[in-house]
Amino acid sequence: MRLRKKPGVREAMATYPKLVPLNGEEYKGKWNSFFGNDNPIHVELGTGKGNFITTLAEQNPDINYFGVELYEEVLIRAVKKAEAKELNNLSFLWINIQDIEKYFAPGEVDKFYLNFSDPWPKKRHARRRLTHSEFLTKYKGLLKPEGAIQLKTDNEGLFQFSLNQFAQELFLLKEITFDLHNSEYVEGNVMTEYEAKFVGQGMKIFRCIAAHPA
Ligand code: SAM
Repeated sequence: MRLRKKPGVREAMATYPKLVPLNGEEYKGKWNSFFGNDNPIHVELGTGKGNFITTLAEQNPDINYFGVELYEEVLIRAVKKAEAKELNNLSFLWINIQDIEKYFAPGEVDKFYLNFSDPWPKKRHARRRLTHSEFLTKYKGLLKPEGAIQLKTDNEGLFQFSLNQFAQELFLLKEITFDLHNSEYVEGNVMTEYEAKFVGQGMKIFRCIAAHPA
């Protein structure tokens, strides 16, 4: 895995102990002590360059945010954005989303965001999609009973697949739109880097909220 291949990257990340805690597993179930408050926790899965999560953290100082990202090339861009904004309610987990249960305890997360996740269009790669039921089961276990997942994508195939997977896992679907930017839900929408690119190309954005079945 690339995390091991690049000498010096880990050391570079280690210079941001608050923004990129490399010992995140130790805080499982105790992130309130890391942040020094009991504020809700919102997690973006596959943060990329971080425009979405740094903007939300700036707008909502009473929510603690995480950006989860595997690839250091993009993660470092997000970290530098957060550093420039001097945010103390945002951290990044440099991990594979597959391992998310090692970092959060059951019921510790209030909201997950999935923004423009890789569609993995080939059927044989369906299990890699971040809304495959195997992933949804993990997120469901970590969410509070009143928690939810918000999904945005430009990919209609992934959207339809995700709606079905949410329904299969008994999430309650709401605020579904097949054209976010021409819908009532656009107010307050924070764009991601991918979203800005797709909207600039005139593409429609699909979006829904899946509430925990409890
Ligand atoms: N959310 C951003 C946006 O909308 O601009 C980035 C979208 S990009 C298509 C998907 C991101 O998810 C990439 O940065 C990729 O590295 C990350 N990602 C994909 N699978 C991942 C995984 N299993 N664990 C952690 N990050 C992952």
